[in-house]
Order: sequence, then structure tokens, then C-alpha cells
Amino acid sequence: MLVLHGTGVSSGIAIGKAYVLHRERPEVPEYILPESLIADEIARFLTAIDSARNQLERIRNEIPKSAPPEISSIIDTHLLILHDKMICETPVETMRTHRRNAEWALRTQSDELAAVFEQMDDPYLRSKKTDVGQVVDRILRNLLASTDEEHEQITDALDGQIVVANDLTPADIVLLKHTRIAAFVTNLGGPISHTAILARSLEIPAIVAVHNATRAIRSGEELIVDGKLGVLVVLPEPDIIAEYQSRQKDIIQLKRELDAIKASRSETRDGRTITLYANIELPDDVKAVTKVAAQGIGLYRTEFLFMNRPDLPDEEEQYRAYAKVVRAVPGKPVTIRTLDLGADKRADANTRPTDTVTVNPALGLRAVRLCLQDTSLFRPQLRAILRASALGQVRIMIPMLSSLGEMFRVLDLIEETKADLARQGQPYDEEVQVGGMIEVPAAAVSADLFAPHLDFFSIGTNDLIQYTLAIDRVDEAVNYLYDPLHPSVLRLISTTIRAGKAAGIPVAMCGEMAGDTRYTRLLMGLGLDEFSMHPSALLEVKRVVRDSDLVELERSAERVLRARDTVELHAIVDKMNEH
Ligand code: PEP
Ligand code: MG
Repeated sequence: MLVLHGTGVSSGIAIGKAYVLHRERPEVPEYILPESLIADEIARFLTAIDSARNQLERIRNEIPKSAPPEISSIIDTHLLILHDKMICETPVETMRTHRRNAEWALRTQSDELAAVFEQMDDPYLRSKKTDVGQVVDRILRNLLASTDEEHEQITDALDGQIVVANDLTPADIVLLKHTRIAAFVTNLGGPISHTAILARSLEIPAIVAVHNATRAIRSGEELIVDGKLGVLVVLPEPDIIAEYQSRQKDIIQLKRELDAIKASRSETRDGRTITLYANIELPDDVKAVTKVAAQGIGLYRTEFLFMNRPDLPDEEEQYRAYAKVVRAVPGKPVTIRTLDLGADKRADANTRPTDTVTVNPALGLRAVRLCLQDTSLFRPQLRAILRASALGQVRIMIPMLSSLGEMFRVLDLIEETKADLARQGQPYDEEVQVGGMIEVPAAAVSADLFAPHLDFFSIGTNDLIQYTLAIDRVDEAVNYLYDPLHPSVLRLISTTIRAGKAAGIPVAMCGEMAGDTRYTRLLMGLGLDEFSMHPSALLEVKRVVRDSDLVELERSAERVLRARDTVELHAIVDKMNEH
């Protein structure tokens, strides 16, 4: 038995026989051609490109309608790359000037492109190198008239097997989709690689970046894939197989139970309603929100629209993005958080040279602080959000408030923006709600001072914990101190909930703690009745809600707040979670 580790990118457990795909990069010959043969060589190159286009189009036409849109969009990206001058024109010039064969000209060009991609800071753009490489390899295989078409011959024989490959192309995935394979394992790739994206959307367990998997494993060997933990067991002992089989059954059973409660109310056994919202980062994430029947969006992190690009989105582009989200969940609240740039979230277009010398970026010019300093960044966003408010139930949420002065300045800016829109005859919701994130300890301690001026609170535990416990949330060395159950954190949460209730405004939580079922009952007991979380966590939280008695939880939560040491505190929380 051998245990290998990689990056688990699509959760689930698969047990089955390995099917190892051996497909090396094509060997490329280099030869000089006489002038008279150059025209024929160029024609041969263009024919190979035509064939590649036909192949990709054929694959795209084979994609079943039910398949996730990511699949066809990746094939479309490959078609675009194929038509890019860098791929279909530059090698032709190289053939002419160097009088070399097509394969050599294409490989030379692709190596140069790879070097350019390699230097990019942005991991997303860097990952595009793989796409270019896959398109180039396809053209090369056509030029070389390779008989190594293993990838095009994948058949039903793979049913239930675990595919192990160096890397998989989108075309492989389309073909594999028909074959009901049990899991993927690849030597290469990362969490945002295509293998990962597609595996997640097809709900197939997958592990990437298992170095040497294709060398260590032989076709036909028994494997266990744990796609959540990234663990791959080769030739497992019978007792290990039995253990994983039982975990696999539990997962299937849990999935059935969660599907069954999708349409049910989020209500405790003693009849108290708990509102469950979803967090999103990009407009496309709303699909996942409707899939789990969330009651609205409790946190839309708008800064993602500003990241991974050289420029800033203008008012119009922002409006289109916000409008798309609002229209996708008609009749449901959409909480649009104003920009939370800074610290670990940077926009290339908004990064100044001085930023690099900031010693403590998490304590620096971030979120509302940055927006108030640079209103040319803030005003277009407020206009875009307010315009989108005419289309549905939009709520504005201000991140990282620490002083009342900041809150009043934002409220003034919102009023000014409304007045501008009214003068210009642009519609907006006059009653649009404005809430604040409570994620700085200063705001939690003085929540009673903020509450009368706001329509709602949302507790951001990711930052609240980092600032309360003085531990950088992106510093692995102090990760072990990150503790949502620290008495100071629980007191701040409780203070915030009480202040909100006293002022008659709703209090939600949108940090990771809200989506972690270990804390659901404790938070309900502390009086939290709105939770916002990643859509994938929502049904599990709903299950816990439906299986709880609130009155009982309130009593236990009081005891948690009074606990004199962590052992006692943990014991009470464990007991709350017991049944
Ligand atoms: C938080 O801090 O808990 C939060 C939800 O915001 P973010 O993670 O985007 O800082
Ligand atoms: Mg935060």
C-alpha cells in the first residue's frame, strides 16, 4: 500500500481501478527547407490548424446541453487561441525567415509565449499558459500525423475507473464526461486549473498536483481517491477499503438528506425561523445560490470585479454586474458590499508604489478607509449600486467600519449620490437599506452607538477574529491561534447581537464561522438569526437548524459566555452539538 498526497480540488470519495493515460508532449523535429518548399510547408501548417479547428468544433458540438457552461467556454477559449496571430501567423513568418519546418516554428513560438506567461504575477493569467500549450500540442499532433490518439479513443470501458494522467485537456474532459469515470488524478494542475474547475462542476472527485502519479501507478491497480483531503491510496489493504466504503456511503446518504431539505423551511423544531443567505464573489456565482435555494445574498464581495485586470471597472460595467445579480434572484435581498480592497485583496489598477512599503497592510488603508480617501473610486460604485437598487431588493453594506465618523461620511455620500441621480432622472430605491459590517473590535464594542444609524449589521468574523486576537489571517505561522471560540470573540459577537436587537435592527453573520456547522447552534443560542455563507455550506447549516431547539440553545449559550476556562467552554459547545 502506498499513500500519495496532492491538492484535493473536488470533494468526494472514489474507489476503483486505475486507468493510466500515458501521453507525453510530442517530439518535435527541426530541419531546414529549400526556398521552393516553403509555400508547401506553410500550407501544411495551415491545414493542421484547420484540422485542429474542426476537431475542437466537433468536440464542442458533442457537449451535452446539460453540461456546465464552463466546458464549452474552455473549448471556446481554445478556439480563440487557435485563431490568435501569435499562434497562426507568427510561426508562418518564422518559417519564411528561418526556412525551418512548421513543427519547429510553432514550438519555438510557444516556448517564447510560455516564458512570457511564466513571468506574470497573476496566477489566473499564468494558468493560461496551460491552454496555449494544449492548443499547440493539438496542432503539433496534427502536423506529426500522430497515431497516438489515445485521448480520442476513450470509450465506455472507463466506466467506474479512475483516470490518472499527467494533465487533462478540456477535450479529454468532454470525452471523459460520456464515460462515467469515477475520479481524476493528475500530476500537474492547481486549484484553479481546468481539471479542477471541470471536476467540481461535474461533481467528480479529483486530486491534482500528485507528482509522479503516472509513474507510481499502473493501469488496473486498485485506488482510493479522497478528493476533499487530496489523499490517494494505491493498492489499499482490505480494512482501509472497508473504511472508505463506509465513508463513501455516509457522503452519499448526507447528499440525499441535504437534497431532500432544499425546499424545506429553515426553521427550528420549536418554530423559530433562521434566515440563510449566500455569499458570492462574482455574478456567475448566483447559479450556486439558486441551486441551494438560499433566501438571498448576504454578502456580495464586489472587489473581485476589480481584481485580476489592468484597469478599473467603470460605473456602467459595475451597474451591469450588480444588475445581473439582482435580476438572477428576483424578490430576494442582495447585500452588495462596497469595495473592500487593500490588505490581501489588491487591484492592479489601484496599487501605488508606496503600497509596497506598508508594514501592516491589514491595519492600513483598506476597505471603507480607502473609499473615503479616494472618492473617485467610491462614487461610481455608489451610483452603480443605487441604480441597481431600482431593479430589486438591494442593500448596501459598508466594510471595516471602525469609527462613527466614517459611517456618517458614507451615509452623507450615499445621500449626495441619491440627489445626483434624482436630478438626472435616474431611478433608484429611495428606501435602500444601508448596513455596516462589524469586523473591527472597536465597532463591536461600540455597536450600540452605530446601531441607531444603520438598517442592519453583519458580523465579519474573518476579520473580527484576526483583529481581536492580533493574528494575521494570511500568515500560516500564526494560524494555530485562529480561534472562533475564543471567549473575547464570543463576547464581541454577543455584544453586537444584543446592540442590534436593542435598536431593533437585524444582525447577520457573513464570515466563515457562519458556514461552519460546529458553531451553528452556539450562534443561534447567542441570538443570531441570519447566517450568510458559501453556498456549498448552506444545506448542511439548514440541516442543523432544523434539528435544533432554540430555547435549549439559548440556555447553553449563556453558560458558554460564563465559562471560566476553555475546557469547560468546549465541553458545553460539544454537548450542544451532540444530537
Ligand atoms: C469577514 O471579514 O468575515 C468577511 C466576511 O469579509 P472578508 O472575508 O471579505 O474580509
Ligand atoms: Mg472582512
